[in-house]
Amino acid sequence: MSFVSLGLIDPLVRTLDALGYVTPTPVQAQAIPAVLAKRDVMAAAQTGTGKTAGFALPLLQRLTMEGPQVASNAVRVLVLVPTRELAEQVHESFKTYGAGLPLRTFVAYGGVSINPQMMKLRKGLDVLVATPGRLLDLYRQNAVKFDQLQTLVLDEADRMLDLGFSRELDAVFAALPPKRQTLLFSATFSDEIRAMAGKLLVDPLSIEVSPRNSTVQRIRQWVVTVDKKRKPELFLHLLNKKRWSQVLVFVKTRKGVDLLVDTLAANGVAADAIHGDKPQPARLRALERFKAGQCKILVATDVAARGLDIDDLPLVVNFDLPIVAEDYIHRTGRTGRAGNAGEAVSLVCADEVDLLAAIELLTRQTLPRSEEPGFVPEHRVPLTDTAGQVIKKPKKPKKPKAVGEVSNVDVRFLKVR
Ligand code: AMP
Repeated sequence: MSFVSLGLIDPLVRTLDALGYVTPTPVQAQAIPAVLAKRDVMAAAQTGTGKTAGFALPLLQRLTMEGPQVASNAVRVLVLVPTRELAEQVHESFKTYGAGLPLRTFVAYGGVSINPQMMKLRKGLDVLVATPGRLLDLYRQNAVKFDQLQTLVLDEADRMLDLGFSRELDAVFAALPPKRQTLLFSATFSDEIRAMAGKLLVDPLSIEVSPRNSTVQRIRQWVVTVDKKRKPELFLHLLNKKRWSQVLVFVKTRKGVDLLVDTLAANGVAADAIHGDKPQPARLRALERFKAGQCKILVATDVAARGLDIDDLPLVVNFDLPIVAEDYIHRTGRTGRAGNAGEAVSLVCADEVDLLAAIELLTRQTLPRSEEPGFVPEHRVPLTDTAGQVIKKPKKPKKPKAVGEVSNVDVRFLKVR
């Protein structure tokens, strides 16, 4: 199958050629014709499946074919995303795929001044990529109008709900024209997402490109058990021993991210950090440096790293296991992309056994464990079973009491005198 056979026009096909995209990914093969035909789409697709091109290419094509006709402050395609990083990234994709097309695109998110964004919106836009909160601010200040809106894209809808954007989303939906195309992309489909889809989508094409709640099979996943306090030391040890070349490291909290970066620095290892406390320019700079290979270790929290598009990432390290098991899938999805092999290593301490069990239940696998010589934990991590249960060590049977003292005694415990 080729991009031409999906109905894409020449300029887009030439751009894809130049990018080295030869074959459409499964989500693209299904989404592109449907979006071109103005159908609603509901897609279970995570980052790494090529979903962004799956909606960006056909939307760019339709906007181009319809010609420039956007009024002041109007927006023709609105893409809502959960984080600033994803907003930048999706916008970058629109710019890349739409290179040479006569279209105006822009990205707007919070944490930066709103005035330049209002100025940019004045002439109207063909595509606006935005986070829900900032979009509402712009709307309430009359900087954006939706009368010309044709298509709403919800990218990583599950994450938007996880981050508490539900009320903002409802306010945005209420402001949009009811007659429009809606495309909903989500890595997971909770009841809440299904309810949202039921409310927003009309006769949608359902696309499911990888089995629900599964990690990519190509990825070699393993666990190293270790005592909590020795995790930084173990990380440094594995980094040297295994000669890791480029690592994305996930840490549970912002404080934990900074602590690890400082510990690494104290040991002569340079690492960059991204988390919500960092100013936006610093986060983007860190990401660019990591992508360009200028810094080989990037330490991140889940929220900051969600949706990061980093090609050919060989390794993800879970320094801490995520609190929400589904984040394990998102984290692991950073590696093993576009047919490459990947590896995901989790450093797990005894406190985290319940989190490990939840991940194993969700991904329907028992992660292989190993112990690193010199780092064998004093606090053993209890075993887990395939049903996601922690196997507690069986209690030793109590010493049988003397015959005369007992009532209701299991006879198996009685010594025969
Ligand atoms: P996404 O799932 O949209 O984040 O895309 C994941 C990565 O796959 C991005 O780096 C894209 O540039 C790349 N990609 C998307 N579609 C294709 C394709 N058809 N062939 C090769 N690479 C692709």
